[in-house]
Amino acid sequence: MAIVTEELVYEYWDCDKCGQKAIRGDVRSCPSCGNARNENIKFYLMEGKEEKVEDKAQADKFKAGADWLCSFCENLNSITDNNCLSCGASQESSKKNYFEVQKEKELKAAKKVEAQPPQTPKKPFNWKKFSIWAVAILGSCITSLYFLGKTHNVSFQVVDVSWQRTIPVMRYTSVEQSDWEGELKGDDIVKLKSTQEIRSYEDRQVGTKTETYTESEQYQTGTKKECHTNYESTGSGASKKVTSCDNVPTYSSRSVTKHRDVPVYQKFPIYGTKVVYTANVYTPLREDTLKGKDNEPRWPDVKLGVGVNNKEDTKAEPSAIYIVELKKVNPDDKAKDLQKIKTTEDKFRNVYILNQSVFLPVSVFEEIVLEKGEEKIEDKKEDGK
Ligand SMILES: [Zn+2]
Ligand SMILES: [Zn+2]
Repeated sequence: MAIVTEELVYEYWDCDKCGQKAIRGDVRSCPSCGNARNENIKFYLMEGKEEKVEDKAQADKFKAGADWLCSFCENLNSITDNNCLSCGASQESSKKNYFEVQKEKELKAAKKVEAQPPQTPKKPFNWKKFSIWAVAILGSCITSLYFLGKTHNVSFQVVDVSWQRTIPVMRYTSVEQSDWEGELKGDDIVKLKSTQEIRSYEDRQVGTKTETYTESEQYQTGTKKECHTNYESTGSGASKKVTSCDNVPTYSSRSVTKHRDVPVYQKFPIYGTKVVYTANVYTPLREDTLKGKDNEPRWPDVKLGVGVNNKEDTKAEPSAIYIVELKKVNPDDKAKDLQKIKTTEDKFRNVYILNQSVFLPVSVFEEIVLEKGEEKIEDKKEDGK
């Protein structure tokens, strides 16, 4: 249950004529210049300074209600006074009280804000500054890429060329194979032997076991007093201070040991039927290779024979390698002296002609810049010795 306490504390106001600050709420005229409090003043609470209204009669006067504004001299008078203390006009002729005056002032202020041209929006994103940075960063990236990618042309002589072309030959023949039942390959299958073998494993639950684990748990350690204070102006120079206090529980956490059942698994083998069989399939028979040391690569002349059932041999995917060796012409040029490259058929036939010289781009690492499909060959002669 909340414990609620209520008390009355003084509010303060500033003189609008002479500037006197912090005049206590029970004072109706400025102690400095005698100016009566009027529609221009506003009551406020002072931080750090709170004075309780002890006088019973004064408290009742505050609680009676908000000050009323004299319609004639615009002074604020206590609700307990029937006539204006300044000009004697009656309270009945008053059109507004303190709160209504404040509300009117707020509305006026709000309208003024609305009428004003919209404030400049939040600082706009500084594109200019951003782009300067972006250009700077991008610039340095491009510059370093440029230097790494910078090439110079060097004259080389083609000192060696060699090519090698290979065609694998397949023959239809009977072979012995071993596969799982249902996955046998080839024609004219003859099964020789079937055995049960472990093909895979499967996890199966064989029971449960009790496992211990810890869990964090919240528990109440006690209570603490939590208070909220609310101020409500009387509109006559004081505020009702309402303090509401509750005892709220406080918590802490601790770890507790708990138990739970978890499944226990075991690996079980899954058996399959392995078949040893003979079948007719195309299998690699030999590779026919032709080599040369000129710029005109040719394919080997493949003689096809026949396999079982008089089926003709077939050619598998052919392969080819083209290698050139380049030596720099001018010893002063910034380039490695001897460079070996695996190249493409097109460049082998048209660019790297034996004993001719070629003008090639060289990187900052003194190596020939390779094109797509080309590859550098490290000469292993030196460390091979
Ligand atoms: Zn004053
Ligand atoms: Zn008056």
